[in-house]
Amino acid sequence: MRQSQLFLPTLREVPADADVKSHQMLLRAGFIRQNAAGIYSFLPLGKKVLHKIENIVREEMNRAGSQEMMMPALQLADLWQESGRWYSYGPELMRLKDRHERDFALGATHEEVITSIIRDEVKSYKKLPLNLYQIQTKFRDEKRPRFGLLRGREFIMKDAYSFHDKQESLDETYEIMKDAYSAIFSRCGLNFRAVLADSGSIGGKDNHEFMVLSEIGEDLIAYSTDSDFAANIEMAPVLLQESASSENPKEIEKVDTKDAKTIEELSAFLNTPASKIIKSLLYLADGQPVLVLVRGDHEVNEIKLKNVLSAEEVSLASEEDAVKWLNTKPGSIGPVSVVKDVKIIADQAIPLMVNSVCGANEEGYHYINVNAENDFDIHQTEDLRFVVEGDRSPDGKGTIVFAKGIEVGHVFKLGKVYSEPMKASYLDENGKNQIMTMGCYGIGVSRTLAAVAEENNDEKGLIWPLALSPFDIHLIAVNSKNAEQLSLSEELYEKLKNEGYDCLYDDRNERAGVKFTDSDLIGVPIRVMVGKKAGEGIVEVKIRKNGELLEVPVSELSEVLK
Ligand code: ATP
Ligand code: MG
Ligand code: MG
Ligand code: MG
Repeated sequence: MRQSQLFLPTLREVPADADVKSHQMLLRAGFIRQNAAGIYSFLPLGKKVLHKIENIVREEMNRAGSQEMMMPALQLADLWQESGRWYSYGPELMRLKDRHERDFALGATHEEVITSIIRDEVKSYKKLPLNLYQIQTKFRDEKRPRFGLLRGREFIMKDAYSFHDKQESLDETYEIMKDAYSAIFSRCGLNFRAVLADSGSIGGKDNHEFMVLSEIGEDLIAYSTDSDFAANIEMAPVLLQESASSENPKEIEKVDTKDAKTIEELSAFLNTPASKIIKSLLYLADGQPVLVLVRGDHEVNEIKLKNVLSAEEVSLASEEDAVKWLNTKPGSIGPVSVVKDVKIIADQAIPLMVNSVCGANEEGYHYINVNAENDFDIHQTEDLRFVVEGDRSPDGKGTIVFAKGIEVGHVFKLGKVYSEPMKASYLDENGKNQIMTMGCYGIGVSRTLAAVAEENNDEKGLIWPLALSPFDIHLIAVNSKNAEQLSLSEELYEKLKNEGYDCLYDDRNERAGVKFTDSDLIGVPIRVMVGKKAGEGIVEVKIRKNGELLEVPVSELSEVLK
């Protein structure tokens, strides 16, 4: 592609309303443009990267035995009424009416549509299992669309659905999908963890989120340094009721404390003394509610607080000092844990935690647990989870560390959550009518693009991994007014194309500085520059990632590029 003809509107300035790197860079480098809050256009380069991600997804899904199809984004409300989600989904579901006043939804996911297709078409166990996917635009009227493509209101998702006669068959497919997801995110060059998670509004049990480790992640995850153990911590803002104790744990009230940023504000908001809030193991970080974790069981002689993200640790003599310390860090500290030798100061929270974690009085037994069923005796309202920081992972291997994560994928065992109300049944070997068992598997394709951009950039611009780069090579005629340079550039452009490279060729009449700045911004991993030594048949090859520069005779270029 000749850059002189490419639609690539780059920006020199950092756009004012873009607050994370990926969003800034994708705008500046001319990959995307915003049309409305959370709604974007992909310009040609953005579309190329999207395409590459989609192809990786396709290859791995096909390899895993899933079949591609395509369902409508515009969906009859009737189906959503059948599943019940018309009533439970809330304002995130985009709803509209047609000219006949019939209700429709814009697909936020496609469980209803696929289930209705399968129940009509599949009647026998002989046709099961089935695994189907699509790559398609989804709509969710997010309360806070933000971070560019990371949280859009219109975005691209790969969603897959599997149908089974037996639980074992679902279990098998689930593992295959997890492996496919790992392959996909590895090929995208992402540092990710598959974390145990909670089911949210889709329902069902057993699910994993694929989290890219990232400073700007909206989720907090805990994972083991030495094993596969990893879990999502949706730290719910909780305040235990006054009278709760280890003998008499009470339901926890869930409180939305989003606007409170300091212990004092929180204290005012909850109408609870500050010291009690510490006792209740609640703290805010980045406006996110976070549990202050308490560990240990007996006399207080010291309170140790630790910022689990930065590992900053302090020892304090009293609860008051702990409150003071927390308040020196409003809004920025990250999760805090009280790690050592604390008497059960929180008559509300700790007993419940201790109760919740099996055998918690045993030395060293205060471990992470999020996906609780096995280890928790739950006295909590439905979706509240607790975490207790421990020295080692629950599986005994490695230490637990915390990180922020971007959810790029999610695999669920749905069971019969949809098939039951929607009556998706089949005849088994004995001719008996049975309800199908289902799984569902999502990947945020456009979010993955942004996650890759977020994790691969420097102050000059984007740095694409080769597998996702919009072009394989960026060829630059350094001074296109120079006849020698221009003719060698043209020659190399043809040659590289013939060798099968997708080559972006900067043939513009621009100053060298402008070309290099744009090239750094766009982030193609390999740059070939035809400059002053063109006459001697020498070009320069520059590696975007580390700035490494080589002089290469034209005759050796093909070899070097391999
Ligand atoms: P989140 O917790 O970030 O709101 P979710 O759990 O609601 O995501 P799922 O229903 O699991 O999302 O959808 C599957 C995948 O779709 C997610 O793992 C994520 O990668 C992607 N996704 C969800 N919401 C958005 C969004 N608003 N913008 C971009 N991608 C999204
Ligand atoms: Mg969501
Ligand atoms: Mg989620
Ligand atoms: Mg999810």
